[in-house]
Amino acid sequence: MATPIGNLGDLPPRAVEVLASVALVCCEDTRRTGKLLQHAGIRAERLAVCNEHTEYERIGDVLDVLGSGLDVAVVSDAGTPGISDPGERLVAAAIEAEHVVSAVPGPAASTMAVTISGFPSHRFVYEGFLPRKGRDRTDRLGEVADETRTIVLYEAPHRMQRTMADLLAVCGPDRGVAVSRELTKLHEETVRGTLGTIDVGEPRGEYVIVLAPVENAPVDASDDTVRALLADALEAGASTRDAAATVAEQTGRRRREVYQLAVDLDR
Ligand code: SAM
Repeated sequence: MATPIGNLGDLPPRAVEVLASVALVCCEDTRRTGKLLQHAGIRAERLAVCNEHTEYERIGDVLDVLGSGLDVAVVSDAGTPGISDPGERLVAAAIEAEHVVSAVPGPAASTMAVTISGFPSHRFVYEGFLPRKGRDRTDRLGEVADETRTIVLYEAPHRMQRTMADLLAVCGPDRGVAVSRELTKLHEETVRGTLGTIDVGEPRGEYVIVLAPVENAPVDASDDTVRALLADALEAGASTRDAAATVAEQTGRRRREVYQLAVDLDR
């Protein structure tokens, strides 16, 4: 069940009814959810901690309660459970055990940010948090660079500068971007522009980055042509990233593929 992402006025009325009626509320943090319940004037029957570390072990309790014919609600600290938050494993286990699973829909930072981004919202991709480092991050950035649908990313304030710099490096300066912070809160703000021009200031609060779809449709330049152009650029002193960006631009080939060829060449 969804809970507010910053404004207590956004707690859905049906969520209040359901929270007051279930036998067990699974939440990430009992203090935080306790405050929400207090705000809504509810005394929950029973709260149980279900966070990224305990979700798996909570499955037994949840199935016991459901098996006795009672209901369980799952909430996260903010927004919609299961969306970069615990919930997915409990849902899967309840479905597997053939219990009825439903949701009280409500706030989610991702859908709110897409809605107000100004980019196409009829098709979009939720990427959540990018992997923090290594090959996983590089690969995911490459996929984002070539994505032909609008993309939604979550990011913590202390990693905003680096993520924006990485996105600029792989997607190029002309890619449209909308950065929303502190959605539904007092200091809510959305800055729109391109990766080359946007200034998100000193990162503060919680962020959603929405990237416009890639505009260049890929054309056929062979791998050999790309390798030759990359070799020239690398020899001239360009970094792997810059060489890949330039050659992708020159050939119209997908940035991810060109970057991979550049990494292989540079080994
Ligand atoms: N389940 C949540 C949802 O449905 O939006 C997301 C939980 S995830 C752990 C937390 C991330 O969501 C934050 O780091 C930020 O990227 C995004 N987020 C949550 N609340 C936000 C808000 N009020 N404004 C902007 N981003 C927010």
